[in-house]
Amino acid sequence: MIHVGKVYKSFGNNTAIDNVSLEIAEGEHVVLLGPSGSGKTTLLRMINGLITPSSGSIRINDADIRERPQNELRRQIGYVLQRNSLFPHYTVEENIAVVPNLLKWEKRATGKKIRELMKKLHLPETYLSRMPDELSGGEAQRVNIARALAADPPILLMDEPFSALDTLTRKSIREEFMQLDEFQRKTVVMVTHDIQEAFELGDTIALLHQGKLVQRGKPLELLYNP
Ligand code: ADP
Ligand code: ADP
Repeated sequence: MIHVGKVYKSFGNNTAIDNVSLEIAEGEHVVLLGPSGSGKTTLLRMINGLITPSSGSIRINDADIRERPQNELRRQIGYVLQRNSLFPHYTVEENIAVVPNLLKWEKRATGKKIRELMKKLHLPETYLSRMPDELSGGEAQRVNIARALAADPPILLMDEPFSALDTLTRKSIREEFMQLDEFQRKTVVMVTHDIQEAFELGDTIALLHQGKLVQRGKPLELLYNP
């Protein structure tokens, strides 16, 4: 479903991604694991079309993402960042509605979907009129997840989605999230530097070091065949 072929990315003289190839199957949950500066975010942003590779190719469902209209990528890909990525001047409801509105969904369908997601993510409906600064860290992150899921994209990209939360909140949101059928049936690529999180959420772990993909395998394979 996602094909990364011999991708390089440099910023000036600094090589952030160094000849990475990766195949991600439909429904697979891949975790990009590695220390700070190893290129995880750069790779994720290239899959999202936000950064263009210096060379190599990225294809989604056999089409090069450079040849795809932005609207089509938005429909295909949901993107979750760390907590502070909600639009501060939009209410919770307006934040979650951003992509459905861009895709010109009917108001009624959008409203229905938003209420369904609020329920699944254990957010009271009364929060729909709140502003992001009236939410706790955990609540804001649930809204971020709802926003990414609103248009039901088949692919979900997540960049350290739980790392800004305190340990207890992180554990409970992560466990809730793993139970969602939205998570289970989507193709997911998640960035983290937290090994425990990687082992819990990933079917496959791709280990990056200094921009190179040094290992790729199931969590237990990595543990026993280092
Ligand atoms: P990670 O997500 O693993 O922490 P990044 O992908 O953010 O790593 O960064 C990989 C390397 O690329 C780092 O050396 C970083 O400094 C560099 N880098 C990332 N983005 C930029 C940018 N926009 N301009 C210059 N260098 C960048
Ligand atoms: P945390 O410790 O997780 O950061 P907060 O202390 O920020 O949590 O928030 C605790 C509760 O108070 C949350 O349910 C949040 O929704 C609510 N809350 C926080 N700020 C406001 C506000 N400005 N207006 C209304 N409710 C708020």
